[in-house]
Amino acid sequence: IAVDNLLEVNNIEVIYNHVILVLKGVSLNVPKGGITALLGGNGAGKTTTLKAISGLLASERGEVTKGSIKYRGEAIEHRDPAETVKKGVVQVMEGRHCFEHLTIEENLLTGAYTRSDGKAAIAADLEMVYEYFPRLRERRKSQAGYTSGGEQQMCAVGRALMSRPETILLDEPSMGLAPQLVEQIFEIVKTINEKEGVTFLLAEQNTNVALRYAHYGYILESGRVVMDGPAADLRENQDVKEFYLGMS
Ligand code: ATP
Repeated sequence: IAVDNLLEVNNIEVIYNHVILVLKGVSLNVPKGGITALLGGNGAGKTTTLKAISGLLASERGEVTKGSIKYRGEAIEHRDPAETVKKGVVQVMEGRHCFEHLTIEENLLTGAYTRSDGKAAIAADLEMVYEYFPRLRERRKSQAGYTSGGEQQMCAVGRALMSRPETILLDEPSMGLAPQLVEQIFEIVKTINEKEGVTFLLAEQNTNVALRYAHYGYILESGRVVMDGPAADLRENQDVKEFYLGMS
């Protein structure tokens, strides 16, 4: 079957501060309309991979020194984040990163800053975000810094949606959240994927939940892809069960 890959990462190497080699040749494909998971433990290189794609690496003195990253066939490995957002790729950072002094609604509206399609379209999308996240509607006038971790994670995803992205790079959506909320966030990701057709590449340490929602997974260890396959196959794989799902 011909797969329409939106994003192709080909054998990239990433170095921080000119000396610290963190990604040692990572390749992965993200098909249009899919949910792809990037799995692996602490420090495996998941966040670095997402930042290499979004262009956020540069602000951390990181650099793609080998390989290529193509979005719709076009090289993006040396683009800055604003250009990548204009191409339709937006990253939701780990640890949520809402503007604490802005209200939830003001945070959501910052996501629309690159758009030029007018107030009515933006208002319609705000309504869409509130339909996905009723909790955000209730809290829309609250200062983000005073809302809960789960609400801030929802706000971060909602803000990404406000840029009308084609692809969302989602870093550790489960981080710091109670299991029930984790499930809720992933359910919404699934719905956004199915209804809005948004493509997801998500980094997750929580292998169990990620492999239940993703279509395809890549497992990273020390800056290399050590295994990849359809999520259903990975869930049944003996090594994955033993080392990542805590079964044996
Ligand atoms: P985590 O879930 O902890 O974020 P990860 O798989 O996302 O893990 P990365 O954050 O990509 O891993 O980190 C990979 C490696 O790169 C780690 O060893 C980390 O210490 C190192 N690293 C990350 N950012 C920098 C930086 N700005 N400068 C130097 N080294 C860094």
